[in-house]
Amino acid sequence: MKKKTFWGGIHPEYHKQVSSETSIQLLPAPEQLVIPLQQHVGSSAKPMVKKGDTVLAGQRIGEAQGFVSAHVHAPVSGTVVAIEARPHSHGKMVQSIILDNDGEETWTDLESHADPIQLSRDQIKQAVTAAGIVGMGGAGFPTHVKLSPPADAEIDYFILNGSECEPFLTADHRMMVEFAADVALGTRLLAKAIGAKRVIIGIETNKMDAIQSLRKHAGNIDIVPLAVKYPQGGEKQLIKALTGREVPSNGLPYECGVVVQNVGTALAAAHAVRDGLPLTHRVITVTGECVQRPGNFLVPIGTSFQQMIEAAGGTKGTVGKVISGGPMMGTAQITTDVPVIKETSGILVLSQEQCAPTHPLACIKCSRCGDVCPAYLLPMRIERAAILGRWDEAEDYGAMDCIECGCCSYICPSKRYLLHYIRLAKNQIMSAKQTRSS
Ligand code: SF4
Ligand code: SF4
Repeated sequence: MKKKTFWGGIHPEYHKQVSSETSIQLLPAPEQLVIPLQQHVGSSAKPMVKKGDTVLAGQRIGEAQGFVSAHVHAPVSGTVVAIEARPHSHGKMVQSIILDNDGEETWTDLESHADPIQLSRDQIKQAVTAAGIVGMGGAGFPTHVKLSPPADAEIDYFILNGSECEPFLTADHRMMVEFAADVALGTRLLAKAIGAKRVIIGIETNKMDAIQSLRKHAGNIDIVPLAVKYPQGGEKQLIKALTGREVPSNGLPYECGVVVQNVGTALAAAHAVRDGLPLTHRVITVTGECVQRPGNFLVPIGTSFQQMIEAAGGTKGTVGKVISGGPMMGTAQITTDVPVIKETSGILVLSQEQCAPTHPLACIKCSRCGDVCPAYLLPMRIERAAILGRWDEAEDYGAMDCIECGCCSYICPSKRYLLHYIRLAKNQIMSAKQTRSS
């Protein structure tokens, strides 16, 4: 089988088998949910309810503020008991609606369409916007924004990202196996909304059952096997592997005629357009060496990380770190008292041994960091510029093109903090630009 791929990348241990073969479990909603008004890139939503209000499941409780924002909905029926700042998986306090679940599951009226593919492009986009759908692979970019490129942009390809290249995570894999018909429908709907000429689903070959399931529902969608390599699911790497095109430096995929969406996003789009369901639940992986029974769970947004870990049997051993997302690009958490949000792809609980601090040694100029960088950068040069505070030099070396995949830090035999310094350089370059433009 011919497998497509990109230049660079690494082959970390994947640890996927611990959760990839068990079916998705539906978890009952907890007694209280914490629904942040910021679960996406862009402006926070504005509350549409106040303390003491009763709400129905599926009711809009947060209104998008501006174009780059997303509506927020209640996953259960119940009573708003507070609107206050609560800890968030992004590491800050975020205004959140605290909802007591009445256990009745009384849903608001939903507008369904028996034959959704017959809807117009605008109708599909409106349904996606109304449902508050955002990129569910971890980026949280509002989907309606991605479906609205400039009028003169011609979209040749719509790509569904089925690579799920992060170690440990298997939620997308299980969705493609168990909900293949709906994932294919969502793919068609999103491709129609953007007016794409070709539709491709790229899947790494460590998910052969997903490839087989989706082929049964593919129709005119190309299901393309991809080599197993990290970061195969990086947007730019996926586009290069599947179309041979390159996203321009500092540019967006539509500029080379491509739009990419995630598996969970396609599933949410199918539910929104066909069934009128807003995005109130998602599938996440709970896994890691310190989790008793790793698996995938369909859960209401607003369930806490702690409740999710308990649903997976609790912890074992000595916990070193809890991460939102995967080990390569995820975010370490300071508390498990944070809610699952639309962009939470997984909860990873690592042991103390796995998280032992490393002590960087001198660079031995082996160039391995450059050999694996999928963005064709020289990470050691950017790191050096950042250590010396030479931000212009870091920019000249292409720091802003770094996709923060962590391959350079992973491969470095001297265990240097390459990605940390590259992120620092990116922040400094961005701040300097903002200061100049204000
Ligand atoms: S420099 Fe950035 S893009 Fe290149 S390997 Fe390091 S983290 Fe990845
Ligand atoms: S991989 Fe590490 S040791 Fe090798 S050149 Fe890059 S920074 Fe230096």
